[in-house]
Amino acid sequence: MAVIHRDTEAPPLLLTDFKPKSKLVTRETVVERPRFPVIDAHNHLSLEGFGGWDKRPVSELLDIFDRADVRVYVDLDGGWGEDILESHLDHFKSAAPERFRVFGGVDWTKWEEQGDRFPEWAANRLRKQAERGAEGLKIWKMLGLTVHDHKGHLVAVDDARLDPIWAVAGELKLPVTIHIADPVAFFDPVDGNNERWEELHDHVDWQFPSPPFPSFRTVVDGLANVVARHPETTFVGAHLGCYAENLQWVGDVLDRCPNFYVDISERIGELGRQPYTARRFFLKYADRILFGTDRAPEEYIYPTYYRFLETDDEYFDYGIEEIPRQGRWRICGLYLPDDVLEKVYYRNAARVMLGQTDG
Ligand SMILES: [Zn+2]
Repeated sequence: MAVIHRDTEAPPLLLTDFKPKSKLVTRETVVERPRFPVIDAHNHLSLEGFGGWDKRPVSELLDIFDRADVRVYVDLDGGWGEDILESHLDHFKSAAPERFRVFGGVDWTKWEEQGDRFPEWAANRLRKQAERGAEGLKIWKMLGLTVHDHKGHLVAVDDARLDPIWAVAGELKLPVTIHIADPVAFFDPVDGNNERWEELHDHVDWQFPSPPFPSFRTVVDGLANVVARHPETTFVGAHLGCYAENLQWVGDVLDRCPNFYVDISERIGELGRQPYTARRFFLKYADRILFGTDRAPEEYIYPTYYRFLETDDEYFDYGIEEIPRQGRWRICGLYLPDDVLEKVYYRNAARVMLGQTDG
């Protein structure tokens, strides 16, 4: 009889060495082109790691868009300084005006020098950016976490002093794409219970331990307050309204605030691990959800998103990293019906970001 060798003495394994391969035999669908044209409502063109497109020919970028049927690309990077806004308008927008929207921003570092006048000053800068061609306002996650006023106090997301900025965005019909907070786990202790341990271990500056940072709920509830207080201003909550882990909370804000929308960028990892809840959410809020990726426009990104939204493929990787960047799990597709897909891919963003009326 052959000797049966069972590995009872296998040594302990490091987490980084644990890369299990799924043995499931299920369908794998390749979706290179979406069922309907697409607007990528959340992306970048100058951030590090986004392909360095500000130094590459726009025609190459347009080729990628064409292959993935991306008709319009929203570049949120115009707000890092007016020189960047200018250069993006000159480099991208002027090359293909109908393919790009460039958003402006708020330079919080000027609070120190402007003092009490800062909110008015920032609102006026927004007017100037819009005159120059900015077609929306992007707010970055520093607000609520690291933005301080001239007296050194942390500025809350719903600080009433910022109201002039939101009011001008509403008056000029500039949609506000706002990202505040971060995944909930980023506020938790980085220990063996933290589902984002590997990511937080690699990016120490993504940890927002509370205290000293405000709690996650303080920050996102601040967002809900701002949206409710400015019904004339259109807000797009980035990354599923900044709380993809809790679609009930997001749905409550959408129910209360008709001026609130969400984009799905960088959150198919969250949505696809709660596929039943996510599918119900998409069906219920089909008019309020915008497609976006927030990933460098390279070839593999769009097909992964299309597969997630269109197919009922199960338990697949949501990125190409060997260890999934946003947590050790895989996702299931939502197999959304055509009418929902068309709205999420294009119609909602056409209304919110291009100002087109349905017809
Ligand atoms: Zn982004």
